[in-house]
Amino acid sequence: MITQVEIDGLRRQAIAPQKLLINGEWQDASDGGVIEVVSPIDGQKLTTIAAATSDDVDVAVRAAGDVFERGDWSRMAPAGRMKILHKIADLIDQNAKELAVLGVRDNGTEIGMALKAEPGSAAGTFRFYAEAIDKAYGEIAPTADNVLALVHREPVGVVGAIVPWNFPLMIGAWKIAPALAAGNSVVLKPSEAASLSLLRLVELCMEAGLPAGVLNVITGNGAVAGEAMGLHQDIDIITFTGSGGTGRRLMDYAARSNMKRLYLELGGKSPNVVFADVEDIDHAAKVSAAGIFRNSGEVCVAGSRILVERSIHDAFVERLKVQAEKLIVGDPLELANNIGAITTKQQLEGDLDFVERAIAEGATLVCGGKQLHAEKGGYYMQPTIFTDVRPEMDLFQNEVFGPVVAVTPFDSEEEAIALANGTDFGLAAAVWTSNLSRAHRMVRNIKSGVVHVNTYGGAGNNVPLAGMKQSGNGADKSLHALEKFENLKTAWIQL
Ligand code: NAD
Repeated sequence: MITQVEIDGLRRQAIAPQKLLINGEWQDASDGGVIEVVSPIDGQKLTTIAAATSDDVDVAVRAAGDVFERGDWSRMAPAGRMKILHKIADLIDQNAKELAVLGVRDNGTEIGMALKAEPGSAAGTFRFYAEAIDKAYGEIAPTADNVLALVHREPVGVVGAIVPWNFPLMIGAWKIAPALAAGNSVVLKPSEAASLSLLRLVELCMEAGLPAGVLNVITGNGAVAGEAMGLHQDIDIITFTGSGGTGRRLMDYAARSNMKRLYLELGGKSPNVVFADVEDIDHAAKVSAAGIFRNSGEVCVAGSRILVERSIHDAFVERLKVQAEKLIVGDPLELANNIGAITTKQQLEGDLDFVERAIAEGATLVCGGKQLHAEKGGYYMQPTIFTDVRPEMDLFQNEVFGPVVAVTPFDSEEEAIALANGTDFGLAAAVWTSNLSRAHRMVRNIKSGVVHVNTYGGAGNNVPLAGMKQSGNGADKSLHALEKFENLKTAWIQL
């Protein structure tokens, strides 16, 4: 819990110009370049971050590679690595309120959610992978009597972690913690639109005793610093969360450089399927509203397409509208508000363009669709519901990444499955029904990394989030994510 007085104190703290962390030293970009950080709360300048050049990326990758070869971290005994990752988790907890408010000033997430989803979740992730370190065994393979086959798990080398502006601490931790637990070195690239809380997290990692060079931070423009990472010959793995467009570029960079291993967590257009036999339609409408509108819809797994059985379509939409109109949008650092600001002006403009296109394509605007509080200089938008959204429409097919939901009716289970699977994405889904067999059939038939049943959202560190189709590959979270950052090596020994 955080009080308004605590928030107000933290939000007034000045933020110093931010630097890059390379080989344990905080430093400016080699050409002195900076990027202005603007708060989405009021459009005011907060501070600057360093804009790394490709030379800076190169120096950071070399530092990460050198320390890997020296073995300061990669060969440290498991107990030593566990202790440091646990200490990082403890420091996150101790500084949770500061981290959360800092992040909100940078990206506009409502504070209640930020506190839980950002430091709260990041600390849990570090703890999960700290504990995994001495529990992830190698294997002895079954062989003939005169052979011993050992399968070793080894760290890979230098991991590049490129993360987006939504939930930077949570998603950053999903990358950094398993990569470090496996013994790798990391070069982290936060989004230029939300670097501040991750920079503070990295400071805490150093305070916890992580050896210099094991975790480096390169802030700056994706097209410069991100591209330099993508094309670098000595980065062994890139783990990325962000848009499909950047994901495609990373595949191209990998092909043009060292064929580095790529894990891409991309966007979604997740179906939330409500059957007429739903047990409690009011509850379903309330949870579905939160499933799309929390964090202004800037959630990769947002339930942005609601598919409703025709017989309850109107009743459900009526309830969804009530829920949407109840939400108070405003300053994300006021506890009384439910929904905060859109992270950037450009993102807000993109969301409003989607609304215009949906109207032009013939969808029906039920509520919302407009910018709010423009006089405050920040970026706010009304929760927005469209009905009569057909599969061929832009709003059905493409990710808004804003507070806009598309509602489409269906008449049968088969049609619901076809509609649910009718986009290029496959990240998340939900099914609301009181028929257990139907729930299991839907879970089997929907092509997505997670299918919620009679809820929307929620998942622990011990279960994977793994996109299908153009939502990506590989899994964040769980022991499966640890395996992504390891090489398997067989020792085949003739006895
Ligand atoms: P983005 O692709 O624009 O940026 C993500 C990161 O990539 C940033 O750090 C950016 O600097 C960097 N980048 C940009 N251009 C680059 C380039 N040419 N080379 C290398 N790096 C580059 O995405 P965003 O707008 O920050 O994030 C929103 C997107 O992320 C949405 O599509 C959302 O669905 C997706 N997302 C997915 C998940 C998931 O787990 N699947 C989670 C959160 C967000």
